[in-house]
Amino acid sequence: MAGPVCVYISVPFCKAKCTFCNFASDVFGAERMQPYMDRLCGEIRGAHTVAERIEASLPRAVDTIYFGGGTPSLLSGQEFKKIFQHLRSEFDLDPDAEITLECAPGQLADETLDELLQQGMNRISFGVQSFVDQETAAVGRLHTRQQCDKEIARVTAAGVREINVDLIVGLPHQTAQSWQYSVEQAVASGAPHISVYLLEVDDDSRLGREMLKQGSRYSATAVPDEDQSAEWYQQACDMLHEAGVQQYEISNFARPGHHSRHNLKYWQRQPYIGFGLDAHSMLLAGRDAVRFANTSDLDRYLGQAAESNSFRIFGSGDHTTHAEVDVVGRGQAFEESLFLGLRLNEGVDLDQLRRQFGEDLLEETMPALMEVRDAGLLELYSDNIRLTPQGRLASNEVFSRLLIPTAA
Ligand code: SF4
Repeated sequence: MAGPVCVYISVPFCKAKCTFCNFASDVFGAERMQPYMDRLCGEIRGAHTVAERIEASLPRAVDTIYFGGGTPSLLSGQEFKKIFQHLRSEFDLDPDAEITLECAPGQLADETLDELLQQGMNRISFGVQSFVDQETAAVGRLHTRQQCDKEIARVTAAGVREINVDLIVGLPHQTAQSWQYSVEQAVASGAPHISVYLLEVDDDSRLGREMLKQGSRYSATAVPDEDQSAEWYQQACDMLHEAGVQQYEISNFARPGHHSRHNLKYWQRQPYIGFGLDAHSMLLAGRDAVRFANTSDLDRYLGQAAESNSFRIFGSGDHTTHAEVDVVGRGQAFEESLFLGLRLNEGVDLDQLRRQFGEDLLEETMPALMEVRDAGLLELYSDNIRLTPQGRLASNEVFSRLLIPTAA
């Protein structure tokens, strides 16, 4: 019997576009909000019909919901009320469900917060990125350090216990001292969960294009180099460890009992369903899993009727065709379990992999695993493998070295 599914809801509206970002989200006109809401709610209503059509299993039980984007905190209380009405008619929400809202500091109205609390929202993830105003301003963020402090205090006073602070290492103008200050402030904020991401500049973002042509707009010349950022990331790991905020995933740190239940499910390769622009889903289907994604083009998304999504199913070997629903075969599922599990500090239990996928795939990967271990990127204790601190910094390299040629 399948366990509960986790739900992701994408709200791609932002007040300003960050210079490094090239997500599907944007500063869309307010007139597009209503059509978006209608389309999103229609999609939620049609979820089980779609799952049936593609012969995937979509449990009614839901135990985590994540509102991401974009800036979902821009929605009004009424809009959230409507989304929850549709969620509750299509799914059975666990009374203890973890419900997370991504929030830009200063962009959560009181009435929205009140409504969300009534609906059971119990976790807020603040996109702080830095507690140094010059650094946030340089990438187009609208908030100040003072606002962050105020917002965290406000939602804490309102009863939200689970708070995450997102930080980015490698922002323009960042220095060793300013980075240390941001990490110290994140700890001092009392948030029991902190995420630390290395700045990823999309080549197609404004900052990315400027860096490629070696220009100076968007503080492109003030972006620290990668080695520097890697050092600061490691410094943050050490500081957070000392403060009792333990690392449990490459980018995620929490005080005991405050892990993100929703994100843990991704890393444990549990099924999830996504609604909204560019939302991705992975559901079980018989002995396999299926994966599908919504378009990242808002016009196309709004133009599609929720119930008329025409899904075509392709085998996992058919990558030449543009598949709307991809069947995840055994080899691919094995790789996903390995790579996602390696993101976690607790690592991967090889015996469990063996039981789930058989001995042959593990045997095929063993030489590469040993090679990566010998390079100091992986530790192997009895039947458990996990990344070393150095491996966490070079995780993409590790994963590409572990790819199984026959898994595609
Ligand atoms: S980084 Fe987040 S807030 Fe900034 S533009 Fe992208 S989605 Fe919006």
